[in-house]
Amino acid sequence: MKQVTRVTTNRIAVVFDFDETLTAKDSFDVLLESCELDPKKFTEDRIQPLIDQGWEKYLARAYALIQVSQQREEKITQETLAKVGQGIQLYKETDKLFERLQQRIHSIHGDIELEFYLISGGFVDIPRNTPIAENFEHMWGCELHYNETGAVDFISRQMTHTEKTRYLYYLSKGIKESNNEKDLIYNYSSLPPSDLHVPLNQVVYVGDGASDVPCFDVIRKYGGMSIGIYPESSNAEGWEYMESISKTQRLSNLVSAGFEDDSELMQSLYLCVECIAKQIQLQQLRERDK
Ligand SMILES: [Mg+2]
Repeated sequence: MKQVTRVTTNRIAVVFDFDETLTAKDSFDVLLESCELDPKKFTEDRIQPLIDQGWEKYLARAYALIQVSQQREEKITQETLAKVGQGIQLYKETDKLFERLQQRIHSIHGDIELEFYLISGGFVDIPRNTPIAENFEHMWGCELHYNETGAVDFISRQMTHTEKTRYLYYLSKGIKESNNEKDLIYNYSSLPPSDLHVPLNQVVYVGDGASDVPCFDVIRKYGGMSIGIYPESSNAEGWEYMESISKTQRLSNLVSAGFEDDSELMQSLYLCVECIAKQIQLQQLRERDK
């Protein structure tokens, strides 16, 4: 009997954006409100002028936040961001989605592992402190540095829209934190599937907007699945990113926010993970000794 090398990785990853994918409001706005600042005015007065001068949006946000902290008596600290995370309003039944997906996948195939990741363009100290944080294998986002008094004093990692894709490659290879330059430039296509923690065709990406378009693109390129989310108050036609997305059909579905069990979003997530699970089963059949 011919010995066939087993190459299937029986792992599926579901990757979420944070702001307006799991939360109803942008977490930076909630942070500003918690500091008694008006998000609209703060953006107009302090952030937009920097962007107009050529600043990258998240660097401008961090700079403006640090400046305002320095000018205030009550400094903005890691604790300030933690409190925002603890209290931020998540979409309905977000806390239940992880267990529901695990149960569904294990009822189909007990061998398949399902992991969750978060890749956010926002300040990751906020999602890290939400009640759902423990469900994620890893969370990546903008990082802030805090000085010896605890006050925010610099941005130590930014997360531009295209940079989010780097972390898709990281999770595919099973890298969580890395300062190794080689990890930044490794060529996904040249890696054998057996070397991957999760191949990108076994990834479901869930996001809501412009910051997710590069990830939608990478996922499509490598045969994974993507779900786009529009706000509960809107509809698919009103989704402002429709134009750029639909042309290349990058999404498996575009649905309203909210994770209730009978929602189209939750039904789409079930179908995506079931579909990938069946592909893995088929692959395992093929690889069995014939
Ligand atoms: Mg978002």
